Amino acid sequence: MIFSRALIGALILSSACQPSGLGVAGGITADSLLARIQVLASDEFEGRAPGSVGEARTVTYLTDQFQQLGLAPGNPDGTFVQAVPLVGITPQESGGLDIVRGDEKLMLTPGADYVAHTKRVVEEVELDGELVFVGYGAVAPEYAWDDFKGVDVNGKVLLMLVNDPPGPEIFGGRAMTYYGRWTYKFEIAAARGAAGVLVIHETGPAGYPWEVIGSNPYGEQFDLVTEDRNMGRAQIEGWIQRPAVARLFRMAGFDFEEAKRAATQRDFQPIALGLTARTTVVNKLRMVNSHNVVARLEGTEAPDETIIFVAHWDHLGADTSLLGDQIFNGAKDNASGTAGLLEIASAFTRTGLPGRSVLFLAVTAEEQGLLGSRYYT
Ligand SMILES: [Zn+2]
Repeated sequence: MIFSRALIGALILSSACQPSGLGVAGGITADSLLARIQVLASDEFEGRAPGSVGEARTVTYLTDQFQQLGLAPGNPDGTFVQAVPLVGITPQESGGLDIVRGDEKLMLTPGADYVAHTKRVVEEVELDGELVFVGYGAVAPEYAWDDFKGVDVNGKVLLMLVNDPPGPEIFGGRAMTYYGRWTYKFEIAAARGAAGVLVIHETGPAGYPWEVIGSNPYGEQFDLVTEDRNMGRAQIEGWIQRPAVARLFRMAGFDFEEAKRAATQRDFQPIALGLTARTTVVNKLRMVNSHNVVARLEGTEAPDETIIFVAHWDHLGADTSLLGDQIFNGAKDNASGTAGLLEIASAFTRTGLPGRSVLFLAVTAEEQGLLGSRYYT
């Protein structure tokens, strides 16, 4: 997705500068892009899940294509493929999430009401913490914005609105800044010592429907294998449906819509809901070796200056519990970007070498939180 914008930018730039002749985009056609998309998004590639047979086929295809185009290996050790060690974490069926106030109890159903995972590399996590609504969870000094206002949320379970605070002049207007991404929300929760974090799902501001999150609550999640086995992250990370949040706000004697409105203002204060959230997550763990594919074109004038084109090759794989079609082919997300990466490489080889070096980076595990990119940097 990030890549598509770069591709359009490159195409626009080249057509503006070079109305005739090949230009940088020269030779890239709808047909040439489509041919590559058809390979990457074919059933044979099984939806390109990290660690799957589909990954092996994808990595081989990309390496072959870069080689055929005459590109050099992009890794300092002279290889095209960079191993990215991941851990696959599969949550086992859970009893649900209990929201407790005195002897009142609201029981939420996994998949329908919420999805909760742990990225800690452990077999079991027990969550027991007080719920605090922290608005968008944004701490952005450049916008003079702080949703926490110094409130200690150590050991708490945070509820955060999806996306970033609205406003024409801050947080990029209608464009989403990093503060709006769920990866940021999980990071800030961990940095503040929270026990858990649940992003409140609303389809409009999220940009995708609940099914993307909720249809497979026990699906395998990937993460990088870090030295601390991810113990620095919040115990529980997840999403919760807006109607469930409205219910628990009512249970606490608050109005969700009102709280949401308050969260659009700079002077918003976190709201301790007086509710306790409890759940247990049991995991099955497996180590997975995934891969980034890296190729390079040496610049002719300034080889030490490098421009990177990046696209993630992975998608969601397959779900064998589905009847009928089980493969998420991911033609748009992100076979299209990956095809674009190859086509741009191909165009450079046709139109002559660039002044600066160009690195083509096809990264893994974007769907799981930009893991391949994070590992590369
Ligand atoms: Zn994607």
